[in-house]
Amino acid sequence: MRAIETFEELQVEATSWRRHLHQYPELDYRLTETAKFVAQKLKSFGLDELETGVAETGIVALVRGHLGDGPTIGLRADMDALPILEASNRPWSSMTEGLMHGCGHDGHTAMLLGAAKYLAMTRNFKGSVALIFQPAEEDGRGAQRMVQEGIMDRYDISRVFGLHNEPGVDVGKFAICYGTIFAALDEFDIIVKGRGGHAAEPHRNVDPIVISAQIVLGLQTLVSRGTDPLQSLVISVTSLTANGAYNIIPETVKISGTVRSLKENLRDFAEQNLFRAAAAIARGFGGDIEFKYRRYEPVTENNPDETTLAIGVARKVVGANAVDEKFAPSMGTEDFCYMARARPGAYILIGNGQTASLHSPAYDFNDDAIPYGIAYWVNLVETVLAP
Ligand SMILES: [Zn+2]
Ligand SMILES: [Zn+2]
Repeated sequence: MRAIETFEELQVEATSWRRHLHQYPELDYRLTETAKFVAQKLKSFGLDELETGVAETGIVALVRGHLGDGPTIGLRADMDALPILEASNRPWSSMTEGLMHGCGHDGHTAMLLGAAKYLAMTRNFKGSVALIFQPAEEDGRGAQRMVQEGIMDRYDISRVFGLHNEPGVDVGKFAICYGTIFAALDEFDIIVKGRGGHAAEPHRNVDPIVISAQIVLGLQTLVSRGTDPLQSLVISVTSLTANGAYNIIPETVKISGTVRSLKENLRDFAEQNLFRAAAAIARGFGGDIEFKYRRYEPVTENNPDETTLAIGVARKVVGANAVDEKFAPSMGTEDFCYMARARPGAYILIGNGQTASLHSPAYDFNDDAIPYGIAYWVNLVETVLAP
């Protein structure tokens, strides 16, 4: 067991990396400078293998332990920023107007780099560790692409672990749960078709705006009246587009939105009932609809064995009372789900303190969390890969 104090020196260094990354945020797969920075650091640690350009700007680095043969485990950090105008007012605030690390991926990258440096120096484990630095978490495709490009097979990764900071949870605490920890993400479009015409003669037209208003209200009852109250489903209309004018009733209106759910069968329910309700309402008023439903990330599932390992390690690092192992799942989505589908895995949340929320312009990753993150990674490796 490596205590937090072990990482005090590394904390200083990792904090400077974190703040550097924070100053130079990049989006989705376009992480040219970020990936260059990460690869340079990894090279300087003297790792065994380094592969860049996975899923365009993703990186996998391999460290072999000195305690004999064993399996390879994957540790994953995300590296991408967000298109938000930063308002955190720190000396290390974003140098690129309109882009910022608003989700703390700068912190995740710095903590995994810190762990990489320590593991490369000590190598006090059997088997190998694959350090996975992923692009494009925010658009939800980076993890999937890295898996599709074969990293799990190429490095023979047996189990995979992820970590994300959580504002509202105190620094020095961890939170996790067994089973589903993040929701599935779907999107829908409903094109409401009426008959456009002069706004002064509504009786000669079929007004898709009034129909759309009924549909938006009608959809609210799908969850409240149609879903088991103990199940979790969110249906949010997030965009309503009509291009009429003061004197023109438009032909069509587009209603778009998102569906989040913690169970696969709720996705089926949402898809069927969004269509059924919207079509029935529109047809009832003489209109019709076109309907599109797209399924993206599935739920993120924490596998029992890996979750038990993660909890055990977190408890060793911060004490049993500082680990909430019954954390309520989030209706947000995490593309780590694709890695956790490819290999058994566990995703843990690390306290970021009472800071602004994720994706807020005022958010900043809390550097005080860095030694806890490094300690979690290092102890996880030395526990899972103990000889
Ligand atoms: Zn995010
Ligand atoms: Zn994030």
